[in-house]
Amino acid sequence: MQTNKLSPQDILPLTCSRTGNCCYGKIIYLNPWELFHLAKEKKNTPGEFRDLYCDFGGIRLKFDGKVGWKEQQACSQYVDNFGCSVHLGRPLACRLYPLGRQIQSEEVHYMYQGDEFPCLEPCAEVVDLAQLSVGEYLEGQMTDTFEKAQDSYLEVMQNMADMAFELLLDTGLAESGDKKTLAEWRKMGSEDPEALADRIGREWVECLMIPDISDDDPIAFVQKHNDLLQLKAQEKFGALQTNQELHEASVLIMGVALHLARGLGANPKDLAELWMDTAKSHGAQE
Ligand code: SF4
Ligand code: SF4
Repeated sequence: MQTNKLSPQDILPLTCSRTGNCCYGKIIYLNPWELFHLAKEKKNTPGEFRDLYCDFGGIRLKFDGKVGWKEQQACSQYVDNFGCSVHLGRPLACRLYPLGRQIQSEEVHYMYQGDEFPCLEPCAEVVDLAQLSVGEYLEGQMTDTFEKAQDSYLEVMQNMADMAFELLLDTGLAESGDKKTLAEWRKMGSEDPEALADRIGREWVECLMIPDISDDDPIAFVQKHNDLLQLKAQEKFGALQTNQELHEASVLIMGVALHLARGLGANPKDLAELWMDTAKSHGAQE
């Protein structure tokens, strides 16, 4: 599909006509900051919101509402004749839509996909509404704190993967000739999200998706969450002795990294392969 890269100055028909047609049939992944804000807006605890409205332990918003636009189901948060019931807490993907966001070589790009501007098919009337620059649109949608949280969680994901590397490469496990660990990393990259959540187990999924943190600053929130995950890993993995224990710990924490990666909209298969190549270049075998 064609990707159209945009600059902040590009002018587009970005005034929403509010039909809600784009709240049907989408896949919206969530990071823990987004889950926290959705729950707050809904006046639920994050755990309640996760149980009622999310799949795979909280990383995906359910789309199990009424059938509508193009015979697709509405988002669980969409209310007929009203719109989004969590508007102020809506996740980044909804704030950005119809735009997308990519990070390439540490630079952020906004874009839209397809030959045609995405709003034109569901809401052709947008051409009659005021045009906005991409920069103005993003400001109006208040994407800033959600972008900061998203980018900070990418660092948490890498920290979790680094822990899996350390357990494999710095403990003598790889040197022992272990081949099972990378084989499991590969398997997890292609595992369906339900199976991966089961493999990680409830305790880690809860620590990953519904940490007991409330902080209005996205960077402080994510930093506290990172510290919590690191502390948990130290408690669990601090006294490992056998290669079997090290193998299991490396697989588990890589599973946590891949589960979080999916919630951040990354492709777990590509990431697992990238991380396997890195481990192999440092002496690990498959
Ligand atoms: S498709 Fe575009 S114009 Fe239509 S409701 Fe969604 S964002 Fe608004
Ligand atoms: S969270 Fe709100 S804006 Fe996003 S898809 Fe659901 S109903 Fe639409």
